[in-house]
Amino acid sequence: MNHKIERTSIARAVGLIGLAAAASALPAVAAVPVTDAMIANDQNTPNDVLTVGMGFSGQRFSTSTQINSDTVVDLVPAWSFSMGGEKQRGQETQALVHDGKIFITGSYSRLWALDQKTGAKLWSYEHRLPEGIVPCCDVVNRGAALYDNLVIFGTLDAKLVALDQTTGKVVWTETIADFKGGYSYTAAPLIVKGKLITGVSGGEFGVVGRVEARDAKTGKMVWTRPTVEGHMGYLNGKENGVSGKTNATWPGDLWKTGGAATWLGCTYGADTNQIYCGTGNPAPWNAFTRPGDNLYSTSTVAINADTGKIEWSYQGTPNDHWDFDGVNEFISFDMKKDGKTVKAGAKADRNGFFYVLNRTDGKLLSASPFVTKQTWASGVDLKTGRPIESNNRPGNPGSGEKGSAVFAAPSFLGGKNWMPMAYSGQTGLFYVPANEWGMDIWNEPITYKKGAAYLGAGFTIKPLYDDYIGALRAMDPATGKVVWEYKNPAPLWGGVMTTAGNLVFTGTPEGFLKAFDAKTGKELWKFQTGSGVVGQPTTWEMDGEQYIGVASGWGGAVPLWGGEVAKKVKDISQGGSFWVFKLHKSGKATVAQN
Ligand code: CA
Ligand code: CA
Repeated sequence: MNHKIERTSIARAVGLIGLAAAASALPAVAAVPVTDAMIANDQNTPNDVLTVGMGFSGQRFSTSTQINSDTVVDLVPAWSFSMGGEKQRGQETQALVHDGKIFITGSYSRLWALDQKTGAKLWSYEHRLPEGIVPCCDVVNRGAALYDNLVIFGTLDAKLVALDQTTGKVVWTETIADFKGGYSYTAAPLIVKGKLITGVSGGEFGVVGRVEARDAKTGKMVWTRPTVEGHMGYLNGKENGVSGKTNATWPGDLWKTGGAATWLGCTYGADTNQIYCGTGNPAPWNAFTRPGDNLYSTSTVAINADTGKIEWSYQGTPNDHWDFDGVNEFISFDMKKDGKTVKAGAKADRNGFFYVLNRTDGKLLSASPFVTKQTWASGVDLKTGRPIESNNRPGNPGSGEKGSAVFAAPSFLGGKNWMPMAYSGQTGLFYVPANEWGMDIWNEPITYKKGAAYLGAGFTIKPLYDDYIGALRAMDPATGKVVWEYKNPAPLWGGVMTTAGNLVFTGTPEGFLKAFDAKTGKELWKFQTGSGVVGQPTTWEMDGEQYIGVASGWGGAVPLWGGEVAKKVKDISQGGSFWVFKLHKSGKATVAQN
């Protein structure tokens, strides 16, 4: 009770401060509105970071060159911000930078606006979470979206909150879904032509995956597109056709709780007008309950941004039996091969294959392993697009009994999990944060119960090698070959960024933010942040200097689900801070003009 009163009075005080500031200097205080044109050009404007993914395609490539493979040795901290409190869990956010402010999200559905120059806190928002939320894999948040004067993010109780960038006041809130049914939200929303694009989390609870588009200024629904075959889509409140064909790839009634959660959000192809979203496992995990391909689970789905209809889909793991969520980001890029330029897109799937597709029609161009061990499939048939499966499914549990176990690799935490890769058009390489691990997995009988875990499986994750689990790998999409790799003892769980300065940045659970030579993989710089880095690095320029920002704070799915791997990393310190770096010797190197 006390706590509640305290919070209310703090909220009032913050509100008053906001009003006072607005009254004294109104024109200076109002935020510069973020427009569709600015968002569309985000990758080419180094003075701001308007989107998680650093542009529509999610390449996480910066044109800035002041910090480069020659100067990075002089990178030092500029300031650090503590997220505070006892709520020190995984910090997976990517910062957004606009009009003098930096916006970061944090564990337990929190958001801060910081002064871009000093790192001082301007305002904060702490979402009041109800009892009974069921986030499967830590209380993380992966970033916000900016539009007009708003900063918008999703919460663990499956809501969307839009705040005024200047005052931090709530402008609108919308409910994505009922958290009591197992829904939550952790991904960063995507803005496409004034629409706010979101998905749902909750694939382990038998939710129905879907992608939704709302008016970003008001939160009003425009269209919704289910990613489980058989469910009806809607456009402007009217029926807009079912996804696929009811019961075509799903037996009986299981499609009604079919999973395929879109829990990692989407990217956008400006030239195709398609929104690319990955989908998670079909529910439950025990595949004997649901014969068929179970569309559109474990797939990449291309949805027309205006009509909300699926234009193509590609499924990596038909009738998935290993929780190989295919949610991983699909990154558009122009691939040069045999003297031609192909409109391509790539995805490093949890199942261990690096897929290159034609992004206009979803045709499979290549599928190459990016991990050393795949027990479940020996390859992918390029004609049919289907995996060539090995005999690696766990046994049927029958009635009331546990089924026989198998050892499978990758583990269900994936050859790559949520942490986004990066693409450099300069080197032509993708930088993939991979992990080498397997699992014992078996089936158990299961029935659906609203809001309860809906797996029908048991498992133990195990490392494959003694000396490393994580591996940052540079992949050539034209050949499918690994060009270089960096091995890390703990599993990699943070995002990757690459820059025109010939650099690749990523963090480690051991606490380091590291920089590598983009061409050779040589480690050039590292800094100890005090806790594990599972955030997404980004970069911007201000007053002629280039800055790098990353969140530090160990957590995520590994400590909760990692089995024998979790034991290996149990001594990593918790944390919760945002670090900003710049060159010690500033002003000498030139700043790139795009
Ligand atoms: Ca920008
Ligand atoms: Ca899953």
